[in-house]
Amino acid sequence: MINKCRLRISREHFDILTRHLFPGDSDEHGAVLLAGISSSAGQPTLHVRELHLAKEGSDYVEGKIGYRALTPTFIHRLITRARDERLAYLAVHNHSSDREVAFSRIDLESHSRGYPALLQISRGMPVGALVFGLRSIQADVWLPSGGRLSLDEASVVGNTIQRLTPSPVRSFLRTAETHDRQLRMFGADGQAELAKCRVGIIGLGGIGSLLAEYLARLGVGKFCLVDSDRVEQSNLSRIVGASPADATSGATKVAVSHRLILQANANAQIQIITDDVAKESVAKTLTSCDYLFLAADSMRARLVVNALIHQYLIPGVQLGSKIRPDSTGALIEVMSANRPIRPGRGCLLCNQLIDPTQLAKEAKTDAERKAQAYGVEEPNPSVISLNAVSAAHAVNDFLLDYLSLRPEGNQLYYGHFHFLKRTRSQVEPRKDQECPECSHRGLRYGRGDAVELPCIEG
Ligand SMILES: [Zn+2]
Ligand SMILES: [Zn+2]
Repeated sequence: MINKCRLRISREHFDILTRHLFPGDSDEHGAVLLAGISSSAGQPTLHVRELHLAKEGSDYVEGKIGYRALTPTFIHRLITRARDERLAYLAVHNHSSDREVAFSRIDLESHSRGYPALLQISRGMPVGALVFGLRSIQADVWLPSGGRLSLDEASVVGNTIQRLTPSPVRSFLRTAETHDRQLRMFGADGQAELAKCRVGIIGLGGIGSLLAEYLARLGVGKFCLVDSDRVEQSNLSRIVGASPADATSGATKVAVSHRLILQANANAQIQIITDDVAKESVAKTLTSCDYLFLAADSMRARLVVNALIHQYLIPGVQLGSKIRPDSTGALIEVMSANRPIRPGRGCLLCNQLIDPTQLAKEAKTDAERKAQAYGVEEPNPSVISLNAVSAAHAVNDFLLDYLSLRPEGNQLYYGHFHFLKRTRSQVEPRKDQECPECSHRGLRYGRGDAVELPCIEG
């Protein structure tokens, strides 16, 4: 039986690979990808961690049976590396087709001859092949258990998200009149992509509830909502959809957003988790999301979501707003932030947005904090209209990037809106080449389920 897998690859790796496969000579070229693996709701996903281009004439030569082939030396070096690093081994070549691609009979025969032996060397790691057309990809992945996987969909995750399949996918979404005005911007295919998309929203307070409202009305079909808090009287000024009765009964914030989403889209599939994202079991449910919105304000949530983005190659964004008075109460800063995070583009840690002191403080209980004279934090000021700026920009980025409605471009910016000064700054994120959380050589990048998330328990 052949099942399907997904593939995630960064834009950076994809561009290097496709330039190598399609240099304009209409010939066939080769490479090997090493990929982390994850499994969520029964669907395996491969996350490309390493790219090894096969040099013409020395690593990729005339084949004895097929047209061209990787040399045994090149294969051996990389299958043993795959085994040692606990990564899947994927041999890549290209055909000259465009939107549709499939393995040839000769390709498949060579897999049958070669892969049983490679599976013995790889000691429990999958091995297989990818074939690239100009705008299409197919996979034939052999599992140690004896199963085989073809490709459902590959996502190229850069500033924008490009989707590639073995052949063109027709969307069968019945477009409702509800979305008529926005269809004129996204097209029926874009609307179908939104209906299939599963977004994770971490934190359903002031910013998260706005995200839920915007995304549901746009027609996003699947949600995973994570927040352990209940609605209080003081939240009513900014949680969209919350009523005084919710505060009185102590309704959970996820329940309020659940209700809000269904009002806009009765068919939405919503998973609600009334728990802390810092728990491993909770963080793991987010690995099947296509996009992550981080609207919780703890350092631990930042650490965990930052890890998810780089370990599983999922695009995401961190949102927040900040109001800072001086000692006399005069405002010195009123700002909203929208920080898109993409694999290969630096992370919250290399941009000093994860404060180790604060992280340590959060690990202590309230009683411990008091004992050590940290004091229990005063609640931060928060205002709905500041939250709305941050949420609206994050949702605009999601639409334009996820549906590839703007050019890929080279720059990724954090947007900081300073309201007292009436200015907006665009900050290019730093990328620390040695960052343990996001660099290609770091412990986490693309490793999927093989390494632990920086969680606390459970
Ligand atoms: Zn072929
Ligand atoms: Zn980093």
